Amino acid sequence: MDAALPPIEDGAVLVAGRRVVAAGPATLVEAQVEAQVDAQVQASGGSGVRRLDHPGATLLPGLVDCHVHLAFDAGADVVATLRAVDDDTLLDRMAGRARALLDAGVTTVRDLGDRGGLAVRLRDAIAAGAVPGPRILTATAPITPPGGHCWFLGGEAAGEDGVRERVRANAAAGADVIKVMASGGHLTPGGAAMNESQFGLAELRAIVAEARRHGLPVAAHAHGTDAIADAVAAGVDTVEHCTWLGRAGVDVRPDVVTALARSGTWVCPALSRNWKGFGPRFGEELTAHLLGELARADAAGVRLAAGTDSGIPGAVFGDYVGALEVFEHVGFPLPRVLELATSAAAEAVGLGGRTGRLRPGHDADLLVVGGDPLTDLRALRDVRLVVARGRPHVPVTAPAGP
Ligand SMILES: [Zn+2]
Repeated sequence: MDAALPPIEDGAVLVAGRRVVAAGPATLVEAQVEAQVDAQVQASGGSGVRRLDHPGATLLPGLVDCHVHLAFDAGADVVATLRAVDDDTLLDRMAGRARALLDAGVTTVRDLGDRGGLAVRLRDAIAAGAVPGPRILTATAPITPPGGHCWFLGGEAAGEDGVRERVRANAAAGADVIKVMASGGHLTPGGAAMNESQFGLAELRAIVAEARRHGLPVAAHAHGTDAIADAVAAGVDTVEHCTWLGRAGVDVRPDVVTALARSGTWVCPALSRNWKGFGPRFGEELTAHLLGELARADAAGVRLAAGTDSGIPGAVFGDYVGALEVFEHVGFPLPRVLELATSAAAEAVGLGGRTGRLRPGHDADLLVVGGDPLTDLRALRDVRLVVARGRPHVPVTAPAGP
């Protein structure tokens, strides 16, 4: 992983079609523009270069959100709401949420669990330019045991043969990534507790092996310490949440932290802006411990990337700032926070060579905001222009406020 490039005071980006052609100091980019214009004038008799100036603004890579659920509405009972609507209605609502994300400057999302392959349809419609939205990577239905966490999304499977079959089905349905619910979660009443494993190491290994056969990465939802340990041992690509819940409270295993760092497994804490209510909800001491773990993991060399879990109760679409503020809260410098939501997140989802940086050859995924997010994250709420794979998009709604 190479570090993000340093900020440029008077910078410019030249885009042709869907790609970045040049990025750097404005004077250098201008020279390239002139060369291009000369060539075009000679070739066609017209220039066709459109120039957009944004004085006092910051241009940065479009944001990448490693963890969203377009199928959920962020309301108080997302499960009941989801189950009450048919697929056509749900797809329509998912398109609206995708639009809200794009309005907030998010040009890539990884959807880690929806129903009926709807995110595949939305992904393809957005890629074709039929509707505005970010690039979508979709897990389709997350793999979970019968009656397990988020079983209602349609990904139930048991045993090594059963989970292999489910991976094959998701791959056939167009999945970009395989998601496994390695531990319980709080959305599903009656399932495993959050600290309890839902699959054994053998099943997780079977999932990873089958996913590799289809060229797909694996994301493991793991709140429990046992599930985190097994997920890393099985060789998953990203651990989601990574909450370190043991049988009696927080249980961070130093050997597993070392394994995470050594293996290069990405960790996406998937904390929405809900983190601000953790103190009253879980107690100040536990909250400080949980959130402090982010800084300790970073210091231990664990690869972190940002995601918002948008769609779960309270996790509204379009408030990436509220989610990112948790990293500022525990002491990450702002340039590093922006990395977590751009270059690091792009690498975590397997798109480091295509987006997340302002670099020639990368897709033109750009965000222009008023002010300077390197000194105040809230500048990300003042979205002036979003460019997603070369398509300019002026936001119709302001990003969600604090
Ligand atoms: Zn989630």
